[in-house]
Amino acid sequence: MVNEFPQVVTIAGTDSGGGAGVMADLKTMQARHVFGTAVVVAVTAQNTLGVQDFMALPTKLIDEQFTSLVTDLNIRACKTGMLADASHVHCVVENLKRVDFGPLTVDPVMIAKGGAALLAADAIQTVRDELVPLATVITPNLPEAAALTGLTIEDDQAMMAAGHALQELGAKNVIIKGGHEADPQTANDFVLLADGSSFWLSAPRVDTVRTHGTGDTLSACITAELAKGAAMATAIQTGKAYVAAAIQQTIQVGHGHGPLNHWV
Ligand code: PLP
Repeated sequence: MVNEFPQVVTIAGTDSGGGAGVMADLKTMQARHVFGTAVVVAVTAQNTLGVQDFMALPTKLIDEQFTSLVTDLNIRACKTGMLADASHVHCVVENLKRVDFGPLTVDPVMIAKGGAALLAADAIQTVRDELVPLATVITPNLPEAAALTGLTIEDDQAMMAAGHALQELGAKNVIIKGGHEADPQTANDFVLLADGSSFWLSAPRVDTVRTHGTGDTLSACITAELAKGAAMATAIQTGKAYVAAAIQQTIQVGHGHGPLNHWV
């Protein structure tokens, strides 16, 4: 067979403003030289000022999108983002079990920076029980890691404990993003790999409101690198470096939490 171009899928919600969700994922995948596809779970009416409204699609249409992909394309890696509520988390889990889309990056999206709930509170348990065990790598921020593990995370020790707790819940590799930490100088992420080894990643904190879609971008970049055959630690390091560059070389779009620059 001719060498096929690496194909990946994001299973997530859209952002009409183009900065987060499926749109950020596809831009990141394009920049990382993989072919991006999408299973749309929810549609948001959104801009840099916030999420004005959203609606999840009928689960039948989500099933059909999975079928469309699996009957034609050769998806090598996948990621999940906004999944809206428990019935949609369950629907995505059932579809992921029926197809083989390669390594799964789970970005357990819960609340947008503007405060909008992108996952119903009662769906956190479904994510923990059904989706986390399928994760090749999970990429929570501090509030998401706390919600999934039930731990209070206020220092490095607690971040490490939360990483181990997420592995016990079934995620093979974990990156906990410390961007919500108090440290004004650096953003420190804790990485725990499947073999039990761990390391910290740090990047200088950039004083900007233009960070809309950073979580999506990180998880999409990791997915792209895994599809190209990168080792997990390398994929995570590349993701962190890509996000740091995309935040630093900011572009002026919109009046609120502006999007990242994907031409870095
Ligand atoms: N909208 C969608 C569809 C998302 O998936 C996400 C994050 O994953 C966001 C909005 C939130 O983006 P942020 O919190 O970076 O503003």
